Amino acid sequence: MSQERESLVGLLKQDVLYQEAVHACINCGTCTAICPAARFYDYDPRRLISDIQNVNEQELVEILKSDIIWYCGQCLSCKTRCPRNNVPGFLITALRSLSQDKGYFAASNEGNKQLTVKRIVGENIIKYGYCVFIDEIGTENHPEQGPVWEWYRNNADSILKKLGANYKGEGPGTLRRISKEDLDELYNILKETKALDRFDNIERYCND
Ligand code: SF4
Ligand code: SF4
Repeated sequence: MSQERESLVGLLKQDVLYQEAVHACINCGTCTAICPAARFYDYDPRRLISDIQNVNEQELVEILKSDIIWYCGQCLSCKTRCPRNNVPGFLITALRSLSQDKGYFAASNEGNKQLTVKRIVGENIIKYGYCVFIDEIGTENHPEQGPVWEWYRNNADSILKKLGANYKGEGPGTLRRISKEDLDELYNILKETKALDRFDNIERYCND
């Protein structure tokens, strides 16, 4: 393996999402103008695409350790507007993957939040087949919802029945119980795609 391929920059450039995301940027700023994250955070997709094209190893380490790569909401509005077919949202995904694989994400506040995301969303997917599962969301962690969420949780069976869901039921329908066979298949997909390795990395590197 060449030195280029072993370097972080080399690894980033091997990611198919990087290859799809980054072409010669004309610095027009359209992506930043359309980006909702740029409106609320110190985040600028135009600058990121521009910086990454000539990034050196140390500069890339700093980006991988920064909060910047965690502000994007992956809405892909940037994909629809760039005159050069750049996709800052895909670049962000490639940067996040590399940051998680190498442990740099744990150096930033936003990166550390991956531990909570993994323990809630990641483990819900493995256990129930859903990213968000009503039974696992404690109302104490969501005071912003006011009393409504607690009422909803306490009356989930009757509310969801009225809404036509099949909450924890067998057969088809929204919120149905996912069969063990399907959960096993899902687990194997996560295993084969190395998502489980990334979950382990998050546990290993994050500050609990
Ligand atoms: S819209 Fe495309 S070309 Fe324009 S600054 Fe963003 S990435 Fe570069
Ligand atoms: S995908 Fe990310 S970078 Fe692109 S517009 Fe949405 S928030 Fe901004």
